[in-house]
Amino acid sequence: MGKADLHTHTTASDGAVKPEDLIKRANEKGLKTLAITDHDTIKGYKLAKPVAKELGIELLTGVELTALWENREVHILGYCFDEDNPGMLKLLGAQKRARRKRMDLIVDHLKSKGVDIDIEEVKAEAGRGNIGRPHAAEVMVNKGIVASIGEAFIRYLSSEKLEDIQTDYSSLRNVVEVVQQAGGAVSLAHPGRLYSAAEVDQMITFGLDGIECIHPSHNFTVQRNFSKKASTNNLLVTGGSDFHGKGKSDYDPYFGIVTLGEQHVMALKRLAQRRKELTI
Ligand code: AMP
Ligand code: MN
Ligand code: MN
Ligand code: MN
Repeated sequence: MGKADLHTHTTASDGAVKPEDLIKRANEKGLKTLAITDHDTIKGYKLAKPVAKELGIELLTGVELTALWENREVHILGYCFDEDNPGMLKLLGAQKRARRKRMDLIVDHLKSKGVDIDIEEVKAEAGRGNIGRPHAAEVMVNKGIVASIGEAFIRYLSSEKLEDIQTDYSSLRNVVEVVQQAGGAVSLAHPGRLYSAAEVDQMITFGLDGIECIHPSHNFTVQRNFSKKASTNNLLVTGGSDFHGKGKSDYDPYFGIVTLGEQHVMALKRLAQRRKELTI
């Protein structure tokens, strides 16, 4: 059976591996299907596309969107949407601006706490990638302000620490609508570590198509419970390794190991196909 990984990051957001190289690695691992789900951008997907074609890897359009729900940031995976859809491109543009503005505010906030980092340093760390908190964390590590990325999050960058910082991310309702209008499907990313069962039920009512049941943060029981919930609600099961390639060596414990079965990929593609037929 062909295995899939529907959750990966590249240098187009906060990953360490170039999109083209990720496809090569996927090929080495024997994956049949891959989705590059960078944060709020499809630039990595676009760069990887020709390489995937050459190597015979099935590359789905993908993105991990940050959405606002009840004053919280939630991660929504979008798949199989039309990559040229104007509504989708508009959303991605707005999300990119929201990220930049949020980082300006985060850096100002950190300065007020006596953390000596500059927005230009964070931008340099992000390079051409969509800017995010891991880039700020890297700067803090490089400057010796913290010993690790984990410490940077615990002490300065967690949602709790940044609670009062306003963001312009799109609402959950809008994110679901835009991806579906673009002929795509949406899945709730890594719910296990973040939400109560009641909160997941609440988000499902926004019209989600699937739940990311398979994720490195889900143990077997969590995975089984979400799969049951997906089945009860007639939702897709999605999953992947959430590969960021940030380890010091090439070794990444989940890439090629935490995978999704072919039947789930087929169900996802069927749903997106039906939706495209309806939205034409
Ligand atoms: P942002 O895109 O700015 O919202 O930053 C969120 C990203 O930071 C996630 O996608 C993870 O890659 C990373 N992240 C979140 N929490 C942690 C943590 N505790 N340690 C390391 N990385 C984290
Ligand atoms: Mn990330
Ligand atoms: Mn995420
Ligand atoms: Mn992710």
